[in-house]
Amino acid sequence: MVGSQFYSADVTVVGAGVMGMMSALELAEAGLSVLLFDKGQAGQEASWAGGGIISPLYPWRHAPPITALATWSQQVFPDLIASLNESTGIDAELSTEGMLVTATHEREKALAWGVGLSPRVVEISDEDARSLEPNVRLDETPLWMPGVSSVRNSRMGRALKRACSNHPRIRLLENREVILSGDLDSPKISSQGQCYASDRVVLAAGAWTGNIFAGVKVSCPIKPMKGQMLLFGQCYLVNRVVLAKGRYAIPRADGRIVFGSTLEDVGFERIPDRNAFESLYASALSMIPVLEEIPLEAQWAGLRPGSPEGLPWIGAVSDKLWVNSGHFRNGVVLSPASSRLLCDQMVDRTPIIDPTPYQPWIAL
Ligand SMILES: Cc1cc2nc3c(=O)[nH]c(=O)nc-3n(C[C@H](O)[C@H](O)[C@H](O)COP(=O)(O)OP(=O)(O)OC[C@H]3O[C@@H](n4cnc5c(N)ncnc54)[C@H](O)[C@@H]3O)c2cc1C
Repeated sequence: MVGSQFYSADVTVVGAGVMGMMSALELAEAGLSVLLFDKGQAGQEASWAGGGIISPLYPWRHAPPITALATWSQQVFPDLIASLNESTGIDAELSTEGMLVTATHEREKALAWGVGLSPRVVEISDEDARSLEPNVRLDETPLWMPGVSSVRNSRMGRALKRACSNHPRIRLLENREVILSGDLDSPKISSQGQCYASDRVVLAAGAWTGNIFAGVKVSCPIKPMKGQMLLFGQCYLVNRVVLAKGRYAIPRADGRIVFGSTLEDVGFERIPDRNAFESLYASALSMIPVLEEIPLEAQWAGLRPGSPEGLPWIGAVSDKLWVNSGHFRNGVVLSPASSRLLCDQMVDRTPIIDPTPYQPWIAL
């Protein structure tokens, strides 16, 4: 197959997490042919390990460029999940039950932030909160964000992988670690000793993006930030996302509960550990005491693509080298807007939002 169309394309996308796969689909829909690489299986890193809340945590704490991406994405999520379900047969289980958040000390800030925005932030009485979530012990009166949804991100990854595999203009190559060399004006891509040709390269390699940039001597601030999660068995104890004291419970359609998460700056190490287990388990029981009776089914860890202030890089480092990475704790929710914005810039379309805040600032 050497020399066939499989080894050249208009664009090479490095990394098939949610960001790489969404980028590939956007570019392919715009008429470009795409080679999409992953060093392992598509959608099995952070995009699998995450929680799937379709909102930044405590959204009022984030800079306006994060809100701009999140707001655009939140509007398209229902259609995205429905059309993936229709085209692939894989349902990513969008739940639209909203989110309860305790944030007493920033109540005014949160309410002011939510004015005129969707999803809104509104007040709710203790009694109403209790009737929404009778099994949850809330030490403070929460805020209510009725428009927040969640997805089962592992399924979203599977649906995206199938959509990419089925797309006539995308060639997905798994278990192929990419090495980047050359320079910014003529980046070269190789994997397993094979060179691949394309007009442009997009780095969407999550926590590993900085390592790949090193191949062209670019210093990039994206670095791994470990997060650990617990999975409780089927119990149907919560109905919607609940966020309290920095920890959250996310119900799945099958009655399980994902509980997270830790935030650890420990490099590329991602083995689940006892300390995290104890801390998460204590938080889970404090929030939902009756969880004590529910079997714990799993603990796992993933590496978020950490970036300063959580602000992603979406744009060109040079005419040939592009990036869509560094979405930190919000990569699932930000993926539709980020990928559309990347594609808009690459095909010279009017961008959905001002791309300036996300331009890579490179240090050679
Ligand atoms: C515990 C936890 C909870 C989270 N909860 C949420 C949440 O509720 N909501 C939300 O929006 N976000 C959440 N996130 C964040 C979100 O999961 C990430 O921001 C998002 O998945 C990043 O997507 P990505 O495609 O950039 O990275 P990844 O999914 O990590 O994908 C990067 C891919 O690049 C590949 N790759 C790396 N190097 C190479 C190479 N040299 N060659 C080829 N391929 C390569 C990897 O194998 C990987 O598949 C959470 C993350 C964690 C860990």
